[in-house]
Amino acid sequence: MLNRQVVKSESATIKIPELDFEIPPEAQRGSLSTIEGILTRAAEALEALQEERRKADPKTAEAIDEFLVKLRACASGESPFTFVLDDPAGNSFIENPYAPSPDPALLLKFYERTPEQQAALGYLADSSQSGEPQQEAAGTVNHTDEELHGAVGAKAGRRAIAQANTSEIVEALCRYTSPEEVMTFPSTCGTCAARCETRMFVTNIPYFKEVIVMASTCDACGYRNSELKPGGSISEKAKRITVHVKNINDLNRDVIKSDSASVKIPELDLELASGTLGGIVTTVEGLVTKISESLERVHGFTFGDSLDESRKGKWQDFRTRLNKLLSLEEPWTLIIDDALANSFVAPVTDNIQDDSQLTLEEYERTWEQNEEFGLNDMDTSSADAAYNTN
Ligand SMILES: [Zn+2]
Repeated sequence: MLNRQVVKSESATIKIPELDFEIPPEAQRGSLSTIEGILTRAAEALEALQEERRKADPKTAEAIDEFLVKLRACASGESPFTFVLDDPAGNSFIENPYAPSPDPALLLKFYERTPEQQAALGYLADSSQSGEPQQEAAGTVNHTDEELHGAVGAKAGRRAIAQANTSEIVEALCRYTSPEEVMTFPSTCGTCAARCETRMFVTNIPYFKEVIVMASTCDACGYRNSELKPGGSISEKAKRITVHVKNINDLNRDVIKSDSASVKIPELDLELASGTLGGIVTTVEGLVTKISESLERVHGFTFGDSLDESRKGKWQDFRTRLNKLLSLEEPWTLIIDDALANSFVAPVTDNIQDDSQLTLEEYERTWEQNEEFGLNDMDTSSADAAYNTN
C-alpha cells in the first residue's frame, strides 16, 4: 500500500483528513515518489525547523512534535489513514498495484473544475469571462480527478457523455444526422478567448437516445474541441451492453463509452472502473487500442530498469493478449456497464432484435451507483462540513 508510486503534479494538493494535514501544490511539486516517500519528506521538512521553533515558539514546537509522531506512524504503516490527492489539472497519478484488476483501496472521482480553478491553471485568457454558461457554450467543460465527498453530486445530469480536444466526436457521429441540421454559431475560444465558430447538432441515435453534439475550432490558436451531451433527463435505469466479438464487423461497430461506464473483457480478466479513459466516441477496435495505449502511458514509467523482471513480464504479456483481441483468433466479450445508461454500441443489423451478438440489459441502479453520481437525493452538506472542518 505504502509502496504505490505517486505522481504529484505542481497543481495537486495532498490531504490526510485523519491528521488534518495538507501538502499544498507548492510543496513537493512535480514529484515522482511513493506514498511513504511523500509522507517521509513532509515529516523531514517539518522536523528541519523544529530547533528554531523550540526557541521562538515552544508551544507550537511541542504540538508539531506530537504531530510528527502521528505522521511517521502513517508513513511506516502503523496507523491507517486516507491519502487524498486532488489535482484540478488531472495530471497526477496513484499507482494501482493490482492492475489490470480494479484497485479495492482506491476511489477515483471526477469533477468539473470551478471557474477559479480554470483561471488558476491558466485555462482562461481572461478570468472575467469565466461565467459557466459561456464555458458550456464554448464546450470546454473538463473533468478531473478528485476524491472529495459528494463532489460529483447532481451535476451527473448535465455532465458530458464524452469530450475530446479534437473534432473526432463530430466526425464519428455526423452520419447520424443530415448536414442541413447542423447549426453554426459564433462563440469564444476556451483557450485563447478569440472569437471562433461552434457547430452543433441534435440527433436521435437509433437504439440509443437523443444527443447533442458540439464542436469548436479556433482559427487563432488552432484549438479544437468536441463534446457529446445527453439530451433529455437522466435515465431511470442503468444499462449493461454485451457484445460477442467474432468478426471484423464487430470490431467496426460504433461505440460511445461514457465517463460513467465501466468496461470489462472477461477473457482477459480486464476491468476498467467507470471514469477510466473518460468518455470516448470510437469503435470496438478503437476502444481496445485506447485501453492498450492508456495502460502503456500510465505504466510506461514503471517499465524502467527499477521494475522487477517478473512484473515487467506480466505487463508485456498482458499487452500482447490485449492486442491479440484485434486479430480475432478467438471470440471475446466486451461488456460496457453504464450506471447512467449513457453508453452505446451500434447494432450491425437494421433491426436490433436480429443482432444476436449484441445484448442490452436495463437494471435498477444500486444504492452505491446512485451514491456515486449523487442521485440518492441525500443532503450531504453536514458530512461535507464535517470534512471541511476536520
Ligand atoms: Zn483559440
